Amino acid sequence: MDTRPPETLVIIGSGPSAWTAAIYAARANLRPVVYEGEPSREMIPGGQLMYTTEVENYPGFIDGVTGPELMEKLRAQAIRFGTRVEQENIASVELGQHPFRLRPSYSDEIEALTVIVATGARANWLGVPNEERLAQLGGGVSACAVCDGALPAFRDKVLAVVGGGDSAMEEALYLTKFAKEVRLIHRRDELRASRIMADRVLKHPKIKPVWNTRVVDVLGYDEITGIRVENTVTGEKSDMPVGGLFIAIGHTPNTAFLNGQLDLTRHGYIKTPKAWRTATSVAGVFAAGDVMDDYYRQAITAAGTGCMAALEAERWLAHLGLGESPVLETAEAPVNLTQEWKAS
Ligand code: NAP
Repeated sequence: MDTRPPETLVIIGSGPSAWTAAIYAARANLRPVVYEGEPSREMIPGGQLMYTTEVENYPGFIDGVTGPELMEKLRAQAIRFGTRVEQENIASVELGQHPFRLRPSYSDEIEALTVIVATGARANWLGVPNEERLAQLGGGVSACAVCDGALPAFRDKVLAVVGGGDSAMEEALYLTKFAKEVRLIHRRDELRASRIMADRVLKHPKIKPVWNTRVVDVLGYDEITGIRVENTVTGEKSDMPVGGLFIAIGHTPNTAFLNGQLDLTRHGYIKTPKAWRTATSVAGVFAAGDVMDDYYRQAITAAGTGCMAALEAERWLAHLGLGESPVLETAEAPVNLTQEWKAS
């Protein structure tokens, strides 16, 4: 166990909510440290926006901005005010005592007086045979067109995108830059996506919707050769040759590392019981962004909740007389702060 004094505020995550929380907290002299995570096949630091091309609805960017560029700017702004950044995941937490204990993937356990969980949500898979195996092999199956779509393997091929939401629309539109044709495979005959995105897709000459259809198998040994599909109305099965498969069927909030220590909704999002608040079921722990929001799920709303979480954390610390850092110069834990807050 490290003998460092507790961190005043640890922010877990690296999307718009995390960086906005860091900007506010750093400017309030809370000396935040952000655990931005490490890259993996399904997730790269920066969150879902790293998989987005044009962001046209983030206020202040008249001509739009790419997702990665927006994240780079938010991160740099947070660092400018003194935010420290660790390129590690937090693997597990102990929230039953105060200061809270956080275990990074590789380095020593740390303690924190307040925590903001801003870990976002990750892409879902269909769960059909060969899907994840081929995805891991780099064999033409992906949950991120923006990451993988420009690869030579997908050029001038017929590609399939699964899903009927805005993510599927984005992926399909993006892939038209490289593909010969994009088949949009949806299990119903009506899209869930916003009108503007759906219109763009349905009018695009390279995109062909395939309605009432679900993928039941991915064909190919080392690389995809096609997909087996089933008509959801007639039950009829057929094989469709494709050179790539992109899954865009929604996301699951990243809460596994919490190991049940925060109350979650029935869909697995962190509960923030009070309206217009980011406080969770554990006093001193706040949640922001897609990990607590299954309704808006926009970059700007994530940033908004990040701001709220930082302000709430600051007020919580002030209420406990911990205020501006340096907060505790010893490793001694304050006694039962969470109970004191609950009682107030
Ligand atoms: P979503 O809106 O939940 O859509 C998921 C889609 O996948 C639905 O069409 C759903 O079908 C389908 N689906 C789910 N499970 C499936 C399965 N097992 N097999 C086949 N199909 C399945 O998720 P999303 O598209 O990721 O969007 C999430 C949020 O982010 C939305 O609020 C969206 O507006 C927002 N977003 C915005 C933008 C943008 O503004 N540029 C871009 C991306 C996302 P059903 O329709 O039948 O349920």
